[in-house]
Amino acid sequence: MTASAPDQQPSGQNIPDPQTPELTVQVCVIGAGPVGATLACRLAAAGIDTAILDHAPLPPMEHPDFDGRAYAIAAGSMKLLLDAGVWPLLPHRPCPIDSILITDGRPGQPPSPLSLEFGPQDSTEPFGWMVEARALRVALNRALHNSPHIRLFAPATADITRSDDHTLIITSTGQRIRAALVVAADGRQSRTRSKAGIPVTRLPYGQSGIVCAIAHEHPHDNSALEHFLPGGPFAQLPMSGTDEHPNLSAIVWSEKDAVAKRLFSLPDDTFTREIHRRMGDRLGRITPVGRRWTYPLSAQYAQSYTAPRLALIGDAAHGIHPIAGQGLNLGFRDVISLSTLLISAAEKGQDPGNSTLLTQYQRDCRPRNMMMFAATDALDRLFSNDNPVLRLARDIGIAGVGRMPRLRRAFVRHAMGV
Ligand SMILES: Cc1cc2nc3c(=O)[nH]c(=O)nc-3n(C[C@H](O)[C@H](O)[C@H](O)COP(=O)(O)OP(=O)(O)OC[C@H]3O[C@@H](n4cnc5c(N)ncnc54)[C@H](O)[C@@H]3O)c2cc1C
Repeated sequence: MTASAPDQQPSGQNIPDPQTPELTVQVCVIGAGPVGATLACRLAAAGIDTAILDHAPLPPMEHPDFDGRAYAIAAGSMKLLLDAGVWPLLPHRPCPIDSILITDGRPGQPPSPLSLEFGPQDSTEPFGWMVEARALRVALNRALHNSPHIRLFAPATADITRSDDHTLIITSTGQRIRAALVVAADGRQSRTRSKAGIPVTRLPYGQSGIVCAIAHEHPHDNSALEHFLPGGPFAQLPMSGTDEHPNLSAIVWSEKDAVAKRLFSLPDDTFTREIHRRMGDRLGRITPVGRRWTYPLSAQYAQSYTAPRLALIGDAAHGIHPIAGQGLNLGFRDVISLSTLLISAAEKGQDPGNSTLLTQYQRDCRPRNMMMFAATDALDRLFSNDNPVLRLARDIGIAGVGRMPRLRRAFVRHAMGV
């Protein structure tokens, strides 16, 4: 584990345009990724004036091509997206996850007979929804452009000066923004976090994630598979079909870096065979669709989620192993906590950047996120190896959870983010 010192980056390079009147808002969000954009939309839906900026352009009506990436959105996150007015704007139908099969094995061999399956007997609601990344982006961009309570600056970067009673942001487009609170939602490499001098502890895994989509012969029946293999977990997640590919799933799969690099550059037919060796025959014949993506996997956590008049959310505050598909869902839970506190402060006429509110935000989120950090790290260590003792222990564990109703319910609640 390494703790990084604050970055030494130049500041104060943006020059305010004297012709542009200063903008006053309650909250200014830096970074319009899924977490920052959802926070802005949630606050705006409650009538809170919010500015948001991103260094990437965010065109309102762009319909990017299918690219194979999708998020598993837990039930609690879906409710947030509804409250933020984003869910109804999704251009493609999300696919419900109605059952989850958890197995353990080795590539090319049938899974261990001790498996764990969650289904309708565990919940009357879906466990979550698969939402294409491009669909979420289109919906968020639409919402950001259409809300009267949001001022969007993109592409733009920010110079931030925080003082006791307000913050001043100067954008690279020359806009001066006065806000009571700045929220850093600028991702894992958060410049806002490092400029505030908040150190980060990083934990590299030596693993990479391979992400792609597959078309398959048999319907998935809204069922997800999490198959633990010695190189890392392999997940098949059901997606809504298209006219061209009625049976479609997302694949998220981790391997040691060198293996992932080799697999990633295989020709389609051999790559398909490698997927088949891991997933078996459950979906019949498979064909990769769209492009492949690879991400180096690491975990990290910020030593603090707050500084005077600053809150960190999403990947700017924490990054976890994607083994449980919970990274974005954790960020959405930060949004639920912070927006609830901010909406309550606005209703009471309180300062949204007050230190009591920030302390409460950190208290609500950091312990919970640290637990998820520790749990995903432990899961990866327990499952991503071929040690026979650990194999036996995890098979017994998988079977044991299935037979203990309270533990089963705890698992279900966790997966649903409720
Ligand atoms: C292989 C893989 C699979 C995953 N699968 C899932 C899953 O199924 N479910 C799930 O819940 N999570 C998943 N995750 C995690 C999820 O992708 C992240 O947690 C999520 O993207 C974090 O969102 P964010 O908005 O906090 O940060 P980001 O998505 O990183 O967004 C940050 C935003 O800030 C902007 N920005 C950056 N720097 C600046 C700057 N200096 N100034 C202005 N703007 C800036 C960027 O342009 C970007 O728009 C997965 C991750 C990986 C690696």
